[in-house]
Amino acid sequence: MKTEIDTLRLLITLECNLHCKYCCNNIPEIKEKFKPIHLNDVNFRIYENICISGGEPLLNIPLLKKVLGKISYNRNVILYTNGKLLTRYIFEMLEGHGVNNISIGLHTTSPINFVEHILSEYKESRADGRIRLRFNLNEEYKKYNGYLEKKLSDSHYYSLKYWKMNDCERDNEDIFILKGTNIEDDE
Ligand code: SF4
Repeated sequence: MKTEIDTLRLLITLECNLHCKYCCNNIPEIKEKFKPIHLNDVNFRIYENICISGGEPLLNIPLLKKVLGKISYNRNVILYTNGKLLTRYIFEMLEGHGVNNISIGLHTTSPINFVEHILSEYKESRADGRIRLRFNLNEEYKKYNGYLEKKLSDSHYYSLKYWKMNDCERDNEDIFILKGTNIEDDE
């Protein structure tokens, strides 16, 4: 049975401030499925869930704001990030631009310290209790499971998920990559 497409995954850049050797964007069979599109041609209205991804979308805040400005507020908007650039101010900017979920990849050998840092920035921000945070940990780090799951059960605004290597595709998604990242091109 064909799965209904209800989710848009929009890659706004392939640039990243990390260079994970397992990155899905390095798999040629995945990369060839990215359909290039001009921002003005993206029909956000036909999707229930809108995943803004990359690369690292927080590397280009003006472009990110421009993309978010095209999405109506009654959509489930999920920002995918490695979290390195998340600060209280960025949380507030994202909340102000209609992001209601952030999916944070834990690409670090010290996930506990990193999660604690992110949570402290989040709690200091006006986005606290307004954006849900999902931390994604490689299943190889399940040994941290107990501590992080306890830590992340403090609030229903946080959760922890495990991801597997090479698990890069979802049946319910359209995947597009923005043509060019020069925001002047999108006027
Ligand atoms: S942080 Fe994400 S997008 Fe960046 S290299 Fe790692 S897996 Fe790829």
